[in-house]
Amino acid sequence: MFTLPDLGYDFNALEPYIDGRTMEIHHGKHHAAYVTNLNAALDAAGGAGADKGLEHLLANLDAVPEAQRPAVRNNGGGHWNHSLFWNLMSAGGNDGISAELATALEKELGGMAAFREAFAKAATTRFGSGWAWLVVKDGALKVSSTPNQDNPLMDASGTPILALDVWEHAYYLKYQNRRPEYIENWWRVVDWSAVSRLYQAARG
Ligand code: MN
Repeated sequence: MFTLPDLGYDFNALEPYIDGRTMEIHHGKHHAAYVTNLNAALDAAGGAGADKGLEHLLANLDAVPEAQRPAVRNNGGGHWNHSLFWNLMSAGGNDGISAELATALEKELGGMAAFREAFAKAATTRFGSGWAWLVVKDGALKVSSTPNQDNPLMDASGTPILALDVWEHAYYLKYQNRRPEYIENWWRVVDWSAVSRLYQAARG
């Protein structure tokens, strides 16, 4: 049984960049539904190896019975992606990037400005619904994006250390069709201390 994690901050903590009503619906309705539907699919699949943890499940979707596989993929991905996403944001953001991550961004992706441009492009050009990612793959940083609730664990394309939800439900109330403006403002709430901790962990 998976459960909806606490947000860790108030719904309105990320205002004015992400509005409280959006956060309330996004966490309390969308994320909650992924958890409920994931549990139902796993029940129907007789567990499907979920006791080994969500990351193991998502990295081994072929082992899930075919009838429940799409539901486990979509809702398991939804649960994992959102659980990460909430933890990467904080009120007013946080500039506590580690020296190691700052150096790696400089050497591997051309520095913070170039990285932000590449990440925003991945987020903007993801057609329809999906996510933009900064991952560590074989020790190196890489920017990517996925459709729907897919994530880099599913095709072993890296360990996510930064994630951005570009589903319309993440921004539509405040930004309507202005996804680029949502992305630009989202940088103001990114918690670089949290990103740096994930970078250290992914580097091992
Ligand atoms: Mn979402």
